[in-house]
Amino acid sequence: MKIRFDNRFPAGLPGDPERTNRLRQVEGAVWSAVEPSPVPAPRVLAVSTDLLKTLGLTEADAASPAFAQVFGGNALLEGMQPHASNYGGHQFGNWAGQLGDGRAITLGEAVAPDGRHWELQLKGAGPTPYSRRADGRAVLRSSIREFLCSEAMHHLGIPTTRALSLVATGDDVVRDMFYDGHPEAEPGAIVCRVAPSFLRFGHFELPASRGDIELLRTLVDFAIRRDYPQLQGSGEALYAAWFREIAERTARLMAEWMRVGFVHGVMNTDNMSALGLTIDYGPYGWIDNYDPDFTPNTTDAQGRRYRFGWQPRIGLWNLQQLAAALSPLFSDITPLQAGLEAYGQEFARTDRRNIARKLGLSDGDDDALTLTRDLQAWMHKAEVDMTIFFRTLGEGDADALTPDAFADAFYDEAKREIHRDELVAWLARYASRVADDAFDAAGRRETMRLANPKYILRNWLTQEVIDRAHAGDASGITELLNVMQRPYDDQPGREYFAGKRPDWARNKAGCSMLSCSS
Ligand code: AMP
Ligand code: MG
Repeated sequence: MKIRFDNRFPAGLPGDPERTNRLRQVEGAVWSAVEPSPVPAPRVLAVSTDLLKTLGLTEADAASPAFAQVFGGNALLEGMQPHASNYGGHQFGNWAGQLGDGRAITLGEAVAPDGRHWELQLKGAGPTPYSRRADGRAVLRSSIREFLCSEAMHHLGIPTTRALSLVATGDDVVRDMFYDGHPEAEPGAIVCRVAPSFLRFGHFELPASRGDIELLRTLVDFAIRRDYPQLQGSGEALYAAWFREIAERTARLMAEWMRVGFVHGVMNTDNMSALGLTIDYGPYGWIDNYDPDFTPNTTDAQGRRYRFGWQPRIGLWNLQQLAAALSPLFSDITPLQAGLEAYGQEFARTDRRNIARKLGLSDGDDDALTLTRDLQAWMHKAEVDMTIFFRTLGEGDADALTPDAFADAFYDEAKREIHRDELVAWLARYASRVADDAFDAAGRRETMRLANPKYILRNWLTQEVIDRAHAGDASGITELLNVMQRPYDDQPGREYFAGKRPDWARNKAGCSMLSCSS
Protein backbone atom coordinates (compact mmCIF):
# COMPACT_ATOMS: atom_id res chain seq x y z
CA MET A 1 0.00 0.00 0.00
CA LYS A 2 1.63 3.18 -1.23
CA ILE A 3 0.26 6.66 -0.63
CA ARG A 4 2.07 9.94 -1.17
CA PHE A 5 1.52 12.60 1.48
CA ASP A 6 1.77 16.36 1.31
CA ASN A 7 0.75 17.62 4.73
CA ARG A 8 -0.01 21.25 4.04
CA PHE A 9 -2.07 21.82 7.18
CA PRO A 10 0.67 21.20 9.77
CA ALA A 11 3.30 22.55 7.37
CA GLY A 12 1.50 25.83 6.81
CA LEU A 13 -0.02 26.61 10.19
CA PRO A 14 1.33 27.14 13.70
CA GLY A 15 1.34 24.00 15.86
CA ASP A 16 1.20 23.39 19.57
CA PRO A 17 4.68 22.93 21.09
CA GLU A 18 3.43 20.41 23.66
CA ARG A 19 3.30 16.83 22.36
CA THR A 20 1.28 15.01 25.01
CA ASN A 21 -2.40 14.13 25.28
CA ARG A 22 -2.85 16.19 28.43
CA LEU A 23 -6.17 18.05 28.25
CA ARG A 24 -5.50 21.75 27.85
CA GLN A 25 -6.42 25.04 26.30
CA VAL A 26 -4.24 25.41 23.22
CA GLU A 27 -3.57 29.04 22.35
CA GLY A 28 -1.75 30.48 19.38
CA ALA A 29 -1.85 27.18 17.51
CA VAL A 30 -4.23 25.43 15.11
CA TRP A 31 -3.10 21.85 15.66
CA SER A 32 -1.48 19.50 18.14
CA ALA A 33 0.66 16.50 17.23
CA VAL A 34 -1.00 13.36 18.56
CA GLU A 35 -0.77 9.68 17.65
CA PRO A 36 -3.69 7.28 17.50
CA SER A 37 -3.89 4.97 20.52
CA PRO A 38 -3.46 1.30 19.60
CA VAL A 39 -6.42 -1.08 19.62
CA PRO A 40 -6.34 -4.83 20.39
CA ALA A 41 -7.83 -6.41 17.26
CA PRO A 42 -8.47 -4.15 14.27
CA ARG A 43 -10.71 -5.79 11.70
CA VAL A 44 -11.97 -4.17 8.49
CA LEU A 45 -15.76 -4.39 8.36
CA ALA A 46 -16.33 -2.37 5.20
CA VAL A 47 -14.55 -0.15 2.69
CA SER A 48 -15.71 2.22 0.00
CA THR A 49 -14.31 0.70 -3.18
CA ASP A 50 -15.23 3.89 -5.01
CA LEU A 51 -13.04 6.00 -2.74
CA LEU A 52 -10.27 3.41 -2.71
CA LYS A 53 -10.01 3.87 -6.46
CA THR A 54 -10.02 7.65 -6.19
CA LEU A 55 -7.08 7.42 -3.80
CA GLY A 56 -5.20 5.03 -6.08
CA LEU A 57 -5.63 2.05 -3.75
CA THR A 58 -6.81 -1.43 -4.72
CA GLU A 59 -9.13 -3.93 -3.10
CA ALA A 60 -6.03 -6.05 -2.46
CA ASP A 61 -4.62 -3.12 -0.46
CA ALA A 62 -7.81 -2.98 1.57
CA ALA A 63 -7.61 -6.72 2.27
CA SER A 64 -4.00 -6.55 3.43
CA PRO A 65 -3.15 -6.80 7.16
CA ALA A 66 -1.40 -3.43 6.90
CA PHE A 67 -4.67 -1.70 5.95
CA ALA A 68 -6.42 -2.86 9.13
CA GLN A 69 -3.42 -1.79 11.21
CA VAL A 70 -3.18 1.68 9.66
CA PHE A 71 -6.90 2.45 9.56
CA GLY A 72 -7.40 0.92 13.00
CA GLY A 73 -4.81 3.34 14.38
CA ASN A 74 -2.05 0.84 15.16
CA ALA A 75 0.48 1.83 12.51
CA LEU A 76 1.46 4.85 10.45
CA LEU A 77 2.49 4.94 6.82
CA GLU A 78 5.62 6.77 5.83
CA GLY A 79 4.82 10.44 5.32
CA MET A 80 1.87 10.58 7.72
CA GLN A 81 1.94 13.35 10.31
CA PRO A 82 -0.90 12.69 12.75
CA HIS A 83 -2.49 15.66 14.45
CA ALA A 84 -5.69 16.95 16.01
CA SER A 85 -6.95 20.39 15.04
CA ASN A 86 -8.12 23.17 17.28
CA TYR A 87 -11.50 24.83 16.90
CA GLY A 88 -14.35 26.26 18.90
CA GLY A 89 -18.02 26.57 18.22
CA HIS A 90 -21.53 27.67 19.05
CA GLN A 91 -23.46 24.68 20.39
CA PHE A 92 -27.26 24.98 20.34
CA GLY A 93 -26.92 28.73 20.00
CA ASN A 94 -24.38 29.31 22.77
CA TRP A 95 -20.66 29.97 22.52
CA ALA A 96 -18.89 26.86 23.88
CA GLY A 97 -15.25 27.96 23.73
CA GLN A 98 -12.52 25.58 22.64
CA LEU A 99 -13.75 22.19 21.38
CA GLY A 100 -11.25 20.77 18.88
CA ASP A 101 -10.79 17.28 17.48
CA GLY A 102 -11.58 15.33 20.63
CA ARG A 103 -11.73 12.01 18.87
CA ALA A 104 -10.59 12.75 15.36
CA ILE A 105 -6.97 12.47 14.31
CA THR A 106 -5.87 13.52 10.84
CA LEU A 107 -3.19 11.17 9.59
CA GLY A 108 -2.07 13.24 6.66
CA GLU A 109 -3.00 14.77 3.34
CA ALA A 110 -2.92 12.07 0.66
CA VAL A 111 -2.15 13.03 -2.92
CA ALA A 112 -4.33 10.99 -5.29
CA PRO A 113 -3.07 9.83 -8.69
CA ASP A 114 -4.99 12.70 -10.31
CA GLY A 115 -3.17 15.20 -8.09
CA ARG A 116 -6.10 16.03 -5.84
CA HIS A 117 -5.36 16.24 -2.12
CA TRP A 118 -7.42 14.38 0.46
CA GLU A 119 -7.09 14.57 4.24
CA LEU A 120 -7.36 11.14 5.83
CA GLN A 121 -8.81 11.36 9.31
CA LEU A 122 -9.53 8.62 11.85
CA LYS A 123 -12.62 9.14 14.01
CA GLY A 124 -12.53 7.23 17.27
CA ALA A 125 -8.77 6.62 17.41
CA GLY A 126 -8.28 7.68 21.02
CA PRO A 127 -7.74 10.74 23.17
CA THR A 128 -6.28 14.06 22.07
CA PRO A 129 -5.61 17.30 23.97
CA TYR A 130 -9.19 18.24 22.98
CA SER A 131 -11.01 15.20 24.37
CA ARG A 132 -12.34 17.14 27.38
CA ARG A 133 -14.14 14.63 29.62
CA ALA A 134 -14.53 11.94 26.97
CA ASP A 135 -12.52 8.95 25.77
CA GLY A 136 -11.75 9.77 22.14
CA ARG A 137 -13.50 6.61 21.01
CA ALA A 138 -16.58 5.88 18.90
CA VAL A 139 -19.11 3.05 19.10
CA LEU A 140 -19.84 0.67 16.26
CA ARG A 141 -23.45 1.80 15.75
CA SER A 142 -22.47 5.44 15.21
CA SER A 143 -19.50 4.49 13.07
CA ILE A 144 -21.71 2.38 10.78
CA ARG A 145 -24.06 5.36 10.54
CA GLU A 146 -21.27 7.77 9.63
CA PHE A 147 -19.63 5.38 7.18
CA LEU A 148 -22.84 4.64 5.28
CA CYS A 149 -24.28 8.12 5.26
CA SER A 150 -21.07 9.77 4.05
CA GLU A 151 -21.06 7.54 1.00
CA ALA A 152 -24.83 7.64 0.48
CA MET A 153 -24.72 11.45 0.50
CA HIS A 154 -21.88 11.49 -2.01
CA HIS A 155 -23.77 9.23 -4.40
CA LEU A 156 -26.83 11.45 -4.08
CA GLY A 157 -24.58 14.14 -5.55
CA ILE A 158 -24.55 16.23 -2.38
CA PRO A 159 -21.27 17.71 -1.08
CA THR A 160 -19.99 15.72 1.89
CA THR A 161 -16.97 14.36 3.65
CA ARG A 162 -16.36 10.79 2.50
CA ALA A 163 -15.63 7.54 4.33
CA LEU A 164 -12.90 5.15 3.23
CA SER A 165 -13.10 2.42 5.83
CA LEU A 166 -14.89 1.08 8.86
CA VAL A 167 -12.70 -0.89 11.25
CA ALA A 168 -13.82 -2.73 14.38
CA THR A 169 -11.33 -2.18 17.19
CA GLY A 170 -11.92 -5.35 19.22
CA ASP A 171 -12.38 -3.14 22.28
CA ASP A 172 -15.50 -2.13 24.15
CA VAL A 173 -16.59 1.44 24.67
CA VAL A 174 -18.96 2.45 27.46
CA ARG A 175 -21.84 4.76 26.56
CA ASP A 176 -25.00 5.98 28.25
CA MET A 177 -27.05 6.13 25.07
CA PHE A 178 -29.79 8.43 26.36
CA TYR A 179 -27.94 10.03 29.25
CA ASP A 180 -30.40 8.39 31.62
CA GLY A 181 -28.06 6.55 33.94
CA HIS A 182 -27.86 3.30 32.01
CA PRO A 183 -24.31 3.04 30.68
CA GLU A 184 -23.49 -0.06 28.66
CA ALA A 185 -20.40 -1.53 27.05
CA GLU A 186 -20.66 -1.51 23.26
CA PRO A 187 -18.23 -2.58 20.54
CA GLY A 188 -15.90 0.19 19.37
CA ALA A 189 -15.01 1.13 15.79
CA ILE A 190 -13.03 3.64 13.76
CA VAL A 191 -14.08 5.34 10.54
CA CYS A 192 -11.50 6.84 8.21
CA ARG A 193 -13.09 10.05 6.98
CA VAL A 194 -11.77 11.70 3.86
CA ALA A 195 -12.17 15.28 2.64
CA PRO A 196 -10.17 17.97 0.86
CA SER A 197 -10.42 19.93 4.12
CA PHE A 198 -11.92 19.44 7.55
CA LEU A 199 -11.93 23.18 8.33
CA ARG A 200 -15.08 24.25 10.14
CA PHE A 201 -16.64 27.63 10.93
CA GLY A 202 -15.43 27.01 14.49
CA HIS A 203 -11.79 27.04 13.39
CA PHE A 204 -12.15 30.76 12.65
CA GLU A 205 -14.38 31.54 15.60
CA LEU A 206 -11.86 30.31 18.16
CA PRO A 207 -8.95 32.68 17.45
CA ALA A 208 -11.44 35.52 16.93
CA SER A 209 -12.99 34.83 20.35
CA ARG A 210 -9.55 35.09 21.90
CA GLY A 211 -8.70 38.31 20.13
CA ASP A 212 -5.87 36.53 18.32
CA ILE A 213 -6.31 38.39 15.04
CA GLU A 214 -2.89 37.43 13.74
CA LEU A 215 -3.71 33.72 14.00
CA LEU A 216 -7.13 34.35 12.51
CA ARG A 217 -5.55 36.06 9.51
CA THR A 218 -2.95 33.31 9.09
CA LEU A 219 -5.70 30.70 9.10
CA VAL A 220 -7.90 32.59 6.65
CA ASP A 221 -4.97 33.12 4.27
CA PHE A 222 -4.15 29.43 4.48
CA ALA A 223 -7.76 28.33 3.92
CA ILE A 224 -8.10 30.51 0.85
CA ARG A 225 -4.76 29.47 -0.62
CA ARG A 226 -5.26 25.75 -0.06
CA ASP A 227 -9.00 25.25 -0.42
CA TYR A 228 -10.06 28.11 -2.73
CA PRO A 229 -7.11 28.56 -5.12
CA GLN A 230 -9.51 29.74 -7.83
CA LEU A 231 -10.31 32.96 -5.93
CA GLN A 232 -8.42 35.97 -7.22
CA GLY A 233 -7.45 39.28 -5.68
CA SER A 234 -6.00 40.21 -2.32
CA GLY A 235 -6.77 41.82 1.01
CA GLU A 236 -10.32 42.57 2.06
CA ALA A 237 -11.71 42.01 -1.42
CA LEU A 238 -10.32 38.48 -1.45
CA TYR A 239 -11.64 37.80 2.05
CA ALA A 240 -15.04 39.07 0.97
CA ALA A 241 -15.10 36.86 -2.12
CA TRP A 242 -14.15 33.88 0.02
CA PHE A 243 -16.86 34.51 2.60
CA ARG A 244 -19.43 34.94 -0.12
CA GLU A 245 -18.37 31.64 -1.68
CA ILE A 246 -18.74 29.84 1.66
CA ALA A 247 -22.18 31.44 2.09
CA GLU A 248 -23.30 30.34 -1.36
CA ARG A 249 -22.00 26.82 -0.91
CA THR A 250 -23.77 26.58 2.44
CA ALA A 251 -26.98 27.82 0.82
CA ARG A 252 -26.77 25.18 -1.89
CA LEU A 253 -26.07 22.51 0.71
CA MET A 254 -29.16 23.47 2.72
CA ALA A 255 -31.32 23.37 -0.42
CA GLU A 256 -29.93 19.95 -1.26
CA TRP A 257 -30.63 18.57 2.23
CA MET A 258 -34.21 19.80 1.86
CA ARG A 259 -34.52 18.15 -1.55
CA VAL A 260 -33.73 14.67 -0.25
CA GLY A 261 -35.11 14.96 3.29
CA PHE A 262 -31.87 14.90 5.28
CA VAL A 263 -31.89 16.25 8.83
CA HIS A 264 -28.39 16.85 10.17
CA GLY A 265 -29.47 17.00 13.79
CA VAL A 266 -26.54 18.98 15.27
CA MET A 267 -25.90 22.07 13.17
CA ASN A 268 -23.53 23.62 15.69
CA THR A 269 -20.94 25.91 14.11
CA ASP A 270 -18.21 23.37 14.84
CA ASN A 271 -20.14 21.00 12.57
CA MET A 272 -20.30 23.44 9.64
CA SER A 273 -17.73 22.90 6.92
CA ALA A 274 -15.77 25.83 5.49
CA LEU A 275 -16.10 24.01 2.16
CA GLY A 276 -19.87 23.66 2.28
CA LEU A 277 -19.68 19.91 2.85
CA THR A 278 -21.99 17.82 4.97
CA ILE A 279 -19.79 17.02 7.96
CA ASP A 280 -20.05 15.20 11.31
CA TYR A 281 -22.71 12.56 10.95
CA GLY A 282 -24.08 12.15 14.46
CA PRO A 283 -27.76 11.94 15.38
CA TYR A 284 -28.85 12.69 11.82
CA GLY A 285 -32.05 11.35 10.29
CA TRP A 286 -34.00 11.10 7.06
CA ILE A 287 -37.55 12.24 6.59
CA ASP A 288 -40.04 9.42 6.17
CA ASN A 289 -43.48 11.06 6.51
CA TYR A 290 -43.05 14.70 5.57
CA ASP A 291 -42.71 16.69 8.78
CA PRO A 292 -40.84 20.00 8.89
CA ASP A 293 -40.75 19.80 12.70
CA PHE A 294 -38.96 16.46 12.82
CA THR A 295 -35.67 16.25 14.68
CA PRO A 296 -33.96 12.92 15.16
CA ASN A 297 -31.83 14.29 18.00
CA THR A 298 -33.23 13.66 21.50
CA THR A 299 -30.70 16.17 22.87
CA ASP A 300 -32.60 18.75 20.78
CA ALA A 301 -36.12 17.52 21.58
CA GLN A 302 -36.95 20.58 23.72
CA GLY A 303 -36.27 23.51 21.42
CA ARG A 304 -36.04 21.53 18.19
CA ARG A 305 -33.53 24.08 16.99
CA TYR A 306 -32.23 21.67 14.38
CA ARG A 307 -35.59 20.46 13.04
CA PHE A 308 -35.81 19.63 9.33
CA GLY A 309 -37.65 22.78 8.28
CA TRP A 310 -35.36 25.17 10.12
CA GLN A 311 -32.11 24.05 8.52
CA PRO A 312 -31.97 26.88 5.97
CA ARG A 313 -32.40 29.54 8.66
CA ILE A 314 -29.88 27.84 10.95
CA GLY A 315 -27.41 27.82 8.06
CA LEU A 316 -27.79 31.60 7.96
CA TRP A 317 -27.45 31.94 11.73
CA ASN A 318 -24.22 29.95 11.58
CA LEU A 319 -22.90 32.14 8.78
CA GLN A 320 -23.69 35.20 10.90
CA GLN A 321 -21.40 33.77 13.59
CA LEU A 322 -18.69 33.18 10.99
CA ALA A 323 -19.12 36.74 9.69
CA ALA A 324 -18.78 38.10 13.22
CA ALA A 325 -15.59 36.09 13.69
CA LEU A 326 -14.14 37.41 10.42
CA SER A 327 -15.15 41.02 11.02
CA PRO A 328 -11.81 42.05 12.61
CA LEU A 329 -10.24 41.48 9.19
CA PHE A 330 -12.49 44.12 7.64
CA SER A 331 -12.32 47.89 7.92
CA ASP A 332 -15.93 47.99 6.76
CA ILE A 333 -18.32 45.07 7.22
CA THR A 334 -20.51 45.83 4.20
CA PRO A 335 -18.97 42.96 2.18
CA LEU A 336 -19.81 40.53 4.98
CA GLN A 337 -23.40 41.74 4.96
CA ALA A 338 -23.42 41.29 1.21
CA GLY A 339 -22.20 37.70 1.69
CA LEU A 340 -25.07 37.03 4.08
CA GLU A 341 -27.52 38.45 1.55
CA ALA A 342 -25.97 36.25 -1.12
CA TYR A 343 -26.82 33.29 1.10
CA GLY A 344 -30.53 34.10 0.91
CA GLN A 345 -30.42 34.67 -2.83
CA GLU A 346 -28.47 31.50 -3.56
CA PHE A 347 -30.75 29.45 -1.33
CA ALA A 348 -33.85 30.81 -3.07
CA ARG A 349 -32.32 30.15 -6.49
CA THR A 350 -31.29 26.56 -5.71
CA ASP A 351 -34.50 25.81 -3.85
CA ARG A 352 -36.57 27.00 -6.80
CA ARG A 353 -34.53 24.94 -9.19
CA ASN A 354 -34.93 21.88 -6.97
CA ILE A 355 -38.66 22.46 -6.66
CA ALA A 356 -38.96 22.59 -10.42
CA ARG A 357 -36.86 19.45 -10.84
CA LYS A 358 -38.80 17.53 -8.21
CA LEU A 359 -42.05 18.34 -10.00
CA GLY A 360 -40.57 17.81 -13.46
CA LEU A 361 -41.17 21.39 -14.54
CA SER A 362 -38.89 23.47 -16.72
CA ASP A 363 -39.23 26.53 -14.51
CA GLY A 364 -39.43 27.07 -10.73
CA ASP A 365 -41.86 29.96 -11.03
CA ASP A 366 -44.22 31.19 -8.29
CA ASP A 367 -46.85 28.76 -9.48
CA ALA A 368 -44.46 25.82 -8.98
CA LEU A 369 -43.61 27.20 -5.54
CA THR A 370 -47.26 27.37 -4.54
CA LEU A 371 -47.87 23.85 -5.83
CA THR A 372 -45.01 22.60 -3.67
CA ARG A 373 -46.03 24.50 -0.53
CA ASP A 374 -49.58 23.15 -0.84
CA LEU A 375 -48.29 19.65 -1.44
CA GLN A 376 -46.03 19.86 1.60
CA ALA A 377 -48.87 21.04 3.82
CA TRP A 378 -50.98 18.15 2.59
CA MET A 379 -48.19 15.56 3.02
CA HIS A 380 -47.67 16.81 6.56
CA LYS A 381 -51.25 16.46 7.71
CA ALA A 382 -51.97 13.29 5.73
CA GLU A 383 -48.72 11.68 6.99
CA VAL A 384 -47.27 10.87 3.60
CA ASP A 385 -43.82 9.53 2.80
CA MET A 386 -42.02 12.32 0.95
CA THR A 387 -39.57 10.13 -0.97
CA ILE A 388 -42.14 7.58 -2.15
CA PHE A 389 -44.62 10.31 -3.07
CA PHE A 390 -42.24 12.23 -5.33
CA ARG A 391 -40.81 9.09 -6.93
CA THR A 392 -44.31 7.83 -7.71
CA LEU A 393 -45.34 11.23 -9.03
CA GLY A 394 -42.59 10.99 -11.63
CA GLU A 395 -43.43 7.47 -12.73
CA GLY A 396 -46.74 8.03 -14.46
CA ASP A 397 -48.04 10.48 -17.03
CA ALA A 398 -49.23 13.55 -15.17
CA ASP A 399 -52.75 13.42 -16.59
CA ALA A 400 -53.18 9.74 -15.68
CA LEU A 401 -52.21 9.93 -11.99
CA THR A 402 -54.83 8.76 -9.51
CA PRO A 403 -54.77 8.74 -5.69
CA ASP A 404 -54.51 4.95 -5.72
CA ALA A 405 -51.08 5.14 -7.33
CA PHE A 406 -49.83 6.63 -4.05
CA ALA A 407 -51.22 3.96 -1.71
CA ASP A 408 -47.71 2.91 -0.61
CA ALA A 409 -46.82 6.40 0.52
CA PHE A 410 -49.29 6.58 3.41
CA TYR A 411 -48.59 5.70 7.04
CA ASP A 412 -52.18 5.94 8.24
CA GLU A 413 -55.15 4.50 6.33
CA ALA A 414 -57.66 6.74 8.11
CA LYS A 415 -55.75 9.86 7.14
CA ARG A 416 -55.45 8.56 3.61
CA GLU A 417 -59.26 8.49 3.34
CA ILE A 418 -59.81 11.82 5.08
CA HIS A 419 -57.37 13.68 2.84
CA ARG A 420 -58.12 11.87 -0.41
CA ASP A 421 -60.16 14.63 -2.05
CA GLU A 422 -57.40 17.15 -1.47
CA LEU A 423 -55.00 14.86 -3.29
CA VAL A 424 -57.40 14.54 -6.21
CA ALA A 425 -57.62 18.32 -6.41
CA TRP A 426 -53.86 18.78 -6.16
CA LEU A 427 -53.18 16.18 -8.87
CA ALA A 428 -55.57 18.00 -11.19
CA ARG A 429 -53.76 21.31 -10.63
CA TYR A 430 -50.46 19.57 -11.17
CA ALA A 431 -51.60 17.92 -14.40
CA SER A 432 -52.76 21.21 -15.83
CA ARG A 433 -49.46 22.89 -14.90
CA VAL A 434 -47.55 20.02 -16.55
CA ALA A 435 -49.70 20.32 -19.69
CA ASP A 436 -48.65 23.98 -19.99
CA ASP A 437 -44.97 23.25 -19.39
CA ALA A 438 -42.19 23.32 -21.97
CA PHE A 439 -40.94 19.83 -21.05
CA ASP A 440 -42.25 16.87 -23.02
CA ALA A 441 -43.28 13.69 -21.16
CA ALA A 442 -39.87 12.04 -21.47
CA GLY A 443 -38.02 15.17 -20.35
CA ARG A 444 -40.32 15.51 -17.38
CA ARG A 445 -39.80 11.93 -16.28
CA GLU A 446 -36.04 11.97 -16.62
CA THR A 447 -35.77 15.28 -14.73
CA MET A 448 -37.86 13.84 -11.92
CA ARG A 449 -35.96 10.57 -11.77
CA LEU A 450 -32.72 12.48 -11.24
CA ALA A 451 -34.16 14.83 -8.61
CA ASN A 452 -36.16 12.33 -6.58
CA PRO A 453 -34.05 9.49 -5.20
CA LYS A 454 -35.67 6.09 -4.92
CA TYR A 455 -33.24 4.94 -2.23
CA ILE A 456 -32.36 7.07 0.76
CA LEU A 457 -30.54 5.87 3.86
CA ARG A 458 -33.65 5.53 5.96
CA ASN A 459 -32.92 5.23 9.66
CA TRP A 460 -34.58 1.85 9.98
CA LEU A 461 -32.46 0.36 7.18
CA THR A 462 -29.29 1.39 8.95
CA GLN A 463 -30.65 0.15 12.27
CA GLU A 464 -31.26 -3.31 10.81
CA VAL A 465 -27.67 -3.37 9.58
CA ILE A 466 -26.46 -2.26 13.02
CA ASP A 467 -28.48 -4.96 14.78
CA ARG A 468 -27.03 -7.59 12.45
CA ALA A 469 -23.50 -6.31 12.99
CA HIS A 470 -23.99 -6.48 16.76
CA ALA A 471 -25.05 -10.10 16.27
CA GLY A 472 -21.80 -10.82 14.41
CA ASP A 473 -22.81 -10.36 10.77
CA ALA A 474 -21.27 -7.23 9.24
CA SER A 475 -22.14 -8.11 5.64
CA GLY A 476 -25.25 -5.92 5.73
CA ILE A 477 -23.07 -2.80 5.74
CA THR A 478 -21.66 -3.45 2.29
CA GLU A 479 -25.05 -4.67 1.02
CA LEU A 480 -26.67 -1.40 2.02
CA LEU A 481 -23.75 0.64 0.69
CA ASN A 482 -24.14 -1.06 -2.70
CA VAL A 483 -27.79 -0.03 -2.88
CA MET A 484 -27.02 3.54 -1.84
CA GLN A 485 -24.39 3.90 -4.55
CA ARG A 486 -27.17 4.18 -7.15
CA PRO A 487 -29.93 6.07 -5.37
CA TYR A 488 -31.66 7.36 -8.51
CA ASP A 489 -31.75 4.05 -10.40
CA ASP A 490 -34.52 1.51 -10.18
CA GLN A 491 -32.77 -1.56 -8.85
CA PRO A 492 -34.95 -4.60 -9.58
CA GLY A 493 -35.03 -7.03 -6.66
CA ARG A 494 -34.09 -4.33 -4.17
CA GLU A 495 -37.57 -2.86 -3.58
CA TYR A 496 -37.21 -3.67 0.11
CA PHE A 497 -34.65 -0.87 0.45
CA ALA A 498 -37.08 1.64 -1.04
CA GLY A 499 -39.86 0.75 1.37
CA LYS A 500 -41.44 3.07 3.87
CA ARG A 501 -40.61 2.90 7.56
CA PRO A 502 -42.10 -0.25 9.13
CA ASP A 503 -44.24 0.09 12.24
CA TRP A 504 -41.60 -1.34 14.54
CA ALA A 505 -39.29 1.54 13.72
CA ARG A 506 -41.73 4.35 14.43
CA ASN A 507 -40.54 5.17 17.93
CA LYS A 508 -37.49 2.98 18.21
CA ALA A 509 -34.13 4.10 19.54
CA GLY A 510 -31.73 4.44 16.65
CA CYS A 511 -34.54 5.06 14.17
CA SER A 512 -36.53 8.10 15.19
CA MET A 513 -34.62 8.83 18.37
CA LEU A 514 -30.91 9.35 18.58
CA SER A 515 -28.63 11.22 20.90
CA CYS A 516 -25.17 12.75 20.66
CA SER A 517 -23.79 9.85 22.70
CA SER A 518 -21.77 8.03 20.13
P1 AMP B 1 -19.91 16.40 18.13
O1 AMP B 1 -21.16 16.51 18.94
O2 AMP B 1 -19.60 14.99 17.69
O3 AMP B 1 -19.84 17.38 17.02
O4 AMP B 1 -18.71 16.74 19.11
C1 AMP B 1 -18.58 17.97 19.78
C2 AMP B 1 -17.24 18.03 20.46
O5 AMP B 1 -17.10 16.96 21.41
C3 AMP B 1 -16.05 17.90 19.53
O6 AMP B 1 -15.01 18.70 20.02
C4 AMP B 1 -15.70 16.43 19.64
O7 AMP B 1 -14.37 16.19 19.30
C5 AMP B 1 -15.98 16.16 21.10
N1 AMP B 1 -16.31 14.75 21.34
C6 AMP B 1 -17.46 14.10 21.03
N2 AMP B 1 -17.39 12.81 21.40
C7 AMP B 1 -16.17 12.61 21.94
C8 AMP B 1 -15.48 11.49 22.51
N3 AMP B 1 -16.03 10.27 22.60
N4 AMP B 1 -14.24 11.68 22.96
C9 AMP B 1 -13.64 12.88 22.89
N5 AMP B 1 -14.22 13.98 22.40
C10 AMP B 1 -15.48 13.86 21.92
MG1 MG C 1 -18.52 17.79 15.75
